[in-house]
Amino acid sequence: MRTLIFATNNDHKAEEIRALLKNQVSIITLKEAGIEKDIPEPFDTLEENARAKSTAIYEWKAMDCFGEDTGLEVYALDMEPGVKSARYAGDDRSPEANIDKLLRKMEGLKDRRARFRTVISLLIDGKENLFEGICEGRITEGKKGSQGFGYDPVFIPEGAGKSFAEMTMEEKGRYSHRGIAVQKLVAFLSSLV
Ligand code: IMP
Repeated sequence: MRTLIFATNNDHKAEEIRALLKNQVSIITLKEAGIEKDIPEPFDTLEENARAKSTAIYEWKAMDCFGEDTGLEVYALDMEPGVKSARYAGDDRSPEANIDKLLRKMEGLKDRRARFRTVISLLIDGKENLFEGICEGRITEGKKGSQGFGYDPVFIPEGAGKSFAEMTMEEKGRYSHRGIAVQKLVAFLSSLV
């Protein structure tokens, strides 16, 4: 089985991606690879941040790896918070504060359309391939559910009657931005064999 380092310290993301990859690819997180550092995400696009993570790993370990960056894009807020989603309410990256700020900014807004966008930068033998996953949906007026992480309690994907935080991980994976990007990554890896 192919092994990839996943450039994340977010255990939720690692768990989701492992479930999505089933037993097709083995994943090692930064912690498991003995890398203690947090890789910075200093850029203005998801693509550049995903690439910064994958290239940092490749420079350290010279192993096949991928980096991932995700943003929540709200149409009525000119696609904000976008690449700034993690630090929307401040540098402590508090999900509760981020959600509170978002709901406050959207108070009274009728247009609640939003989407999650994920970009994965995969490096195989040092050569990059990018995969994008988009999940359209809408922002609720209050929090719903307790599963998942980040903005999950306030996002209802199109075609679902409930928020990501009201879904099992498997259900979320059927709709999610990350699920779509990972499917593309798996299809690409299969085409290499
Ligand atoms: P990053 O990709 O780790 O930089 O995450 C950006 C922000 O989006 C963080 O606040 C995450 O918690 C949030 N986020 C990323 N993926 C998801 C998701 O699948 N659901 C809800 N929030 C997410």
